[in-house]
Amino acid sequence: MQWDFAHAPRLVAWEVTRACDLACRHCRAVAQPHADPRQLATAEAFRLVDDIAAFRQPVILILTGGDPLKRPDIFPIAERAARAGLRVVMSPSGTQVTPASVAELKRVGVQRISVSLDGSTAGLHDGFRRVAGAFEQAQASLAYAREGGLPFQINTTVTRHNRHDGRGTLQMEITPEEYEETLRFVHEVSQTAPIQVKMTCAPHYKRLQVQERRSAGKRAPAHSPHGFSRGCMAGFGFCFVSHIGEVGGCGYLPLLAGSVRQAPLTEIYRESSLFKSLRDANLLQGRCGICEYRMLCGGCRARALGATGNYLDEEPFCTYQPNPLTPRALVNVEETLAQTVAHEGREELIVHRDRIPPAL
Ligand code: SF4
Ligand code: SF4
Repeated sequence: MQWDFAHAPRLVAWEVTRACDLACRHCRAVAQPHADPRQLATAEAFRLVDDIAAFRQPVILILTGGDPLKRPDIFPIAERAARAGLRVVMSPSGTQVTPASVAELKRVGVQRISVSLDGSTAGLHDGFRRVAGAFEQAQASLAYAREGGLPFQINTTVTRHNRHDGRGTLQMEITPEEYEETLRFVHEVSQTAPIQVKMTCAPHYKRLQVQERRSAGKRAPAHSPHGFSRGCMAGFGFCFVSHIGEVGGCGYLPLLAGSVRQAPLTEIYRESSLFKSLRDANLLQGRCGICEYRMLCGGCRARALGATGNYLDEEPFCTYQPNPLTPRALVNVEETLAQTVAHEGREELIVHRDRIPPAL
């Protein structure tokens, strides 16, 4: 199925609450022990679910937080979403995952949970999560999910504290060179690992995948494309709804597209000027603006905003130097020749290498 990301996102992340028992260093939600009284009420939550279903696509709804399991009405919300045809997944913090909650998640139709593990030892993980015992709780959550037959994924945030220990996504604390080195390491691991290994919010991983495939002389697998997913998905197949209903391109990009308390999500996603600009790679500036990988990668808009105050500026954590003399026409070639496709539930990068001009 071809997916038009100007019309509907493939993923919606909804921060159902900010309540959480952990106090992680990197927490986007600045989680707190108790729910914010302004968070969407149950009736508003149901309305949002119906609105997401109105995209009329099998959107993946990520129930995140805070800890979604701290919200008393989370099971009816998830059940309504699953019944409406959405593919519901959840990212609990781990403190509330029990055999009973796993069984309930399965009953209401949650298809997968994600659990964070930020190191191979309790010292590394608990130091990051700032709660003693979080490592054991994460391991127990994984065991309960496995025993209960609930599919799971493990998320790892790579920072300086765990870079030599682990795997996963990145924070500003490491240098662009360390970032590149980590991307290369993850790419190598992904080639042989018995589980699916992927990067989130490391947009130039797409560029590195193309470069690595090209240097390995690999040809394209013979699948037909079903949809295209850019490295930075903010506003392009992805959007974020906060606990009070504010909508943004992603949870790390503090720019407001609208509020679901004032307009339907369908309208905000399709019509807001912020989202329209995020979907237009020709508006990118700096190195990203002249880069032949910009349609495929896009650079992190949140890091650009953080570094320069301009969300369309170049990604500060990419080491790639595009050739400013590359003609604009050739800059667009990569977009048409390399695509990420959803294939049997996995993402695959398709590179039609034999059709890339030698100049690139
Ligand atoms: S702006 Fe950055 S953090 Fe947000 S979706 Fe894009 S790559 Fe990810
Ligand atoms: S310069 Fe920008 S668009 Fe090009 S690979 Fe780096 S981050 Fe991506």
